[in-house]
Amino acid sequence: MMQSPKEIYDISVSLGDEAIDWPGNPPYNRELISRIADGAYCDLSQITMTTHVGTHVDTPAHFIASGKNLDEYPVERWIRPAHVVSIEDKEVISPEELKGLDIAPGDALLFKTANSSSGRSTSGVFEDDFVYISPEAARFCVAKKVGLVGIDYGSVDRRSGHDFPSHYELLGNGILILEGITLKDVPAGRYTIFCLPMKVKGAEGAPARAVLVR
Ligand SMILES: [Zn+2]
Repeated sequence: MMQSPKEIYDISVSLGDEAIDWPGNPPYNRELISRIADGAYCDLSQITMTTHVGTHVDTPAHFIASGKNLDEYPVERWIRPAHVVSIEDKEVISPEELKGLDIAPGDALLFKTANSSSGRSTSGVFEDDFVYISPEAARFCVAKKVGLVGIDYGSVDRRSGHDFPSHYELLGNGILILEGITLKDVPAGRYTIFCLPMKVKGAEGAPARAVLVR
């Protein structure tokens, strides 16, 4: 039996105010299509969204033809030891800031960057300049056999450029990605992460509720 955790952090952003629509993707929208206030027997929302809005996971199928989709990962794959790593660089995550970590194969690495501290992660408004993962840092994660990488903005790759090197490096080597988290109030250190994606048949990714406990 799991002991009751002392600390629980919800690192998810809320859809509808904090979450950021990726430019060009259909925006998130929720509308009440039935209202008790209007005489209906229940309130009922209809949601329109992509699978990559707000806090969500990417599986290899997102970028790799015939890569694995959500069906191919058992639920325990989304529960694992995690490091929250404070990144000082205001532009990019590079291997230099990761070298001192004691990483075991399968661990999750979650990068707490200026995206969180500036409020950019939860502003609801897309910004071009956000802290991203360099291809070199992605290769470092592959070499360390990291199980999952998390970042506090909507993409692991930088905005400019269309070649998505860090997505290819991570997903092409079987590392799952968690995007759109916020780590503003989370101290750096070790946790267990639960980031359980919605069970969407065949999908390349899905929204998730992500929580850290320790
Ligand atoms: Zn994504």
